[in-house]
Amino acid sequence: MKQITGGCRFCGQFLTFEVPDSFDTEDLNLLSDETVKHCTCNESRDFRAMQSARNSTEDYIDRYFQGSPVAGVAKAAITPVINGDIERITIDAGLGVKLELKTSSKKFIKARYTVTKQTELES
Ligand SMILES: [Zn+2]
Repeated sequence: MKQITGGCRFCGQFLTFEVPDSFDTEDLNLLSDETVKHCTCNESRDFRAMQSARNSTEDYIDRYFQGSPVAGVAKAAITPVINGDIERITIDAGLGVKLELKTSSKKFIKARYTVTKQTELES
């Protein structure tokens, strides 16, 4: 491990923390991301919570649609939904399968997978 110092992109405070020896301190984006992980300001906490929401929504989408074009479209919608630029998006994957992403009043985003099964007999 080695010690590095980085400035938080949100509050500007400088923090010194440990990273693995292999950590590339020349990569400023990496350094900035790593600093945000260590800062305790509200903005960096909110940022981490949002990242976590983004990751869990991606996992949720992959649970049902991994490798399918539906996953690509749905994942592209995560950020606009979290930012409130899209209030709700529903993807109809056919055969009664739907995926809905929408803004959440309590959290960042809500995802819902539904399968509608219907049977009908006309004789
Ligand atoms: Zn900060």
